[in-house]
Amino acid sequence: MSQKRVTAAIALGSNMGDREKYLRGALTRLERTPGVVVLRRSTWHETQPVGGPPGQGLYLNGAALLETTLDAHALLAVLQAIELKAGRERGVQDAARTLDLDLLWFGAESRNTPELTLPHPRLHERAFVLAPLAELVPDHPLACGQTVAQQLETLTGAPS
Ligand code: ADP
Ligand code: MG
Repeated sequence: MSQKRVTAAIALGSNMGDREKYLRGALTRLERTPGVVVLRRSTWHETQPVGGPPGQGLYLNGAALLETTLDAHALLAVLQAIELKAGRERGVQDAARTLDLDLLWFGAESRNTPELTLPHPRLHERAFVLAPLAELVPDHPLACGQTVAQQLETLTGAPS
């Protein structure tokens, strides 16, 4: 039986506690998940929080490319289970968090439900996601018509 393999991209972020430990721990858990292979990860980028309550700590952000035989909902469920294990509490929007894992794209799948929107609807607005992603896949086309590297340059004014 052959199962379809899909390449997916995720964003990782943390701005509470031992941020690097949460990010590394998430990738270790993903590597141990049946049907998921972590192909590559970016370096970690320290960024200012965007939105949310004042007084939050700086974020550590990264991106990773995965190959998976899971479907998109199953992969999202894995990401959310890893967030919960890291002590993530959901409450105030954009509040500080130990671990945020977002699914940026899942192959060429397009869907638009509250539980799962693909590609991620705010991907092209977020330099803190595009900068680590540009280390991995600068030429990947985005829904806005630009590549990852072009869109990062549009947002930051500097070639990546
Ligand atoms: P945010 O990442 O925007 O700060 P959350 O991590 O709390 O917010 O996610 C809020 C909801 O977004 C989740 O319940 C999840 O079901 C939904 N969601 C929709 N599309 C996606 C996606 N592509 N990746 C991750 N979560 C998504
Ligand atoms: Mg999230």
